[in-house]
Amino acid sequence: MNETMHAKLREVDFIQLQFADLFGRPKHIEVPSSEYEKVLDNEMMFDGSSIEGFASIEASDMYLKPDLSTWTIIESEPYRVGQFICDIALPNGEPFIGDPRSNLKRMLRKMESLGFDTFNFGAEPEFFLLEKDGSRHDDADYFDLAPFDKGEICRREITLSLQKLGFRIEASHHEVAPGQHEVDFQYSDALTTCDRLQLFKTVVKRVAAKYDLEATFMAKPFYGMNGSGMHANVSLFKEGDNMFYDEKSKEGLSDIAYQFIGGVLEHVYDFSAITNPTVNSYKRLVPGFEAPSYIAWSTSNRTALIRIPASRGLGTRIEVRSVDPMANPYLAMTVILAAGLAGIEKKALATHRVDANIFHMTPEEREASDIHTLPSDLDHALIALEKSELMKEALGESIHTAYLRLKRQEWDEYRTMVHDWERAMYRNY
Ligand code: GLU
Ligand code: MG
Ligand code: MG
Repeated sequence: MNETMHAKLREVDFIQLQFADLFGRPKHIEVPSSEYEKVLDNEMMFDGSSIEGFASIEASDMYLKPDLSTWTIIESEPYRVGQFICDIALPNGEPFIGDPRSNLKRMLRKMESLGFDTFNFGAEPEFFLLEKDGSRHDDADYFDLAPFDKGEICRREITLSLQKLGFRIEASHHEVAPGQHEVDFQYSDALTTCDRLQLFKTVVKRVAAKYDLEATFMAKPFYGMNGSGMHANVSLFKEGDNMFYDEKSKEGLSDIAYQFIGGVLEHVYDFSAITNPTVNSYKRLVPGFEAPSYIAWSTSNRTALIRIPASRGLGTRIEVRSVDPMANPYLAMTVILAAGLAGIEKKALATHRVDANIFHMTPEEREASDIHTLPSDLDHALIALEKSELMKEALGESIHTAYLRLKRQEWDEYRTMVHDWERAMYRNY
């Protein structure tokens, strides 16, 4: 262990060891820096049986293995706190197969075996700022300014707080729905972006709380208004070159890019339960609110599930628009990469291209173009996830099984619950 790392850890008061549970919720234990040697020796044990989705997979003793490249000073007042993002290991030192972050690394190794070295991911997380009672916080619209946009100052503090943590913030703005916002940070390799997203959500929630607000990343807080997406901009690189770019092709896209698109379109129905993980997620995927509901791609059309933003060269990328911010980012990247690589391996064709507004097409026109919809609810999504051999392989059998079991419980609770809407509709019968 190099001496500079030791010195860095001795400089703080506390060391926070963070990881993600199966649903992507950040979890951590904190140790005083006097314990730093144990941290570096991977000796920090915890009881995995209390972490959602871990218990059923293995015995309960698990160890946190800090990824030393993730060291970030997250607080300096009143105490100095540094954070490591951790992988989870079993007592014998082997990676825990139920750990979403370790599993993404496994998928990245598969990518390397196919000749690529980097999977880049730029996320566009949207969120709502709500009053403490859950009501909407302003009536502003897309790109509005204060005083209509009441989140402006809070958003600025979010930006500055993230910058202090080393984020490069590209832009922020009020989104289409009342109280809805977006803050975009620079893309990076998928693992780094997933790690950053965990910190991003924490910072957004904490800063919002300072302003007596509540930040939510739920996909569709209000019926009849835009929901929150987390568009995933992805590309494959090799030795610094963007493998989705081909300057000689008509559209500047390589065969690999088209095959990746073909793979994602082929498997998106099956992986929706991962990228759109809750009952609420499916209320966002309906026509009319800038979220996709049909399985198609386009170079420009925002109604399509996959869009190809205009930039070429190193910025060439595909934008998967179905993903929402409730998804565990590690699992979401795992399944999108798995689908794209499957497309490359079988040289899939990027069929289902639609440059018209799909929402304006008649059902007959859609049928003639063989355009299908995304799952209509979590139930359909889970049935597809369960059947998919590719997803079982991508997630590993353990995560696949544990995820399905817990999500089935969630669906069953929702299915049997009697909602306010039903009483309003049926009380007079
Ligand atoms: N809020 C929209 C969604 O649910 C996306 C709006 C946009 O294009 O930024 O995906
Ligand atoms: Mg947006
Ligand atoms: Mg976008």
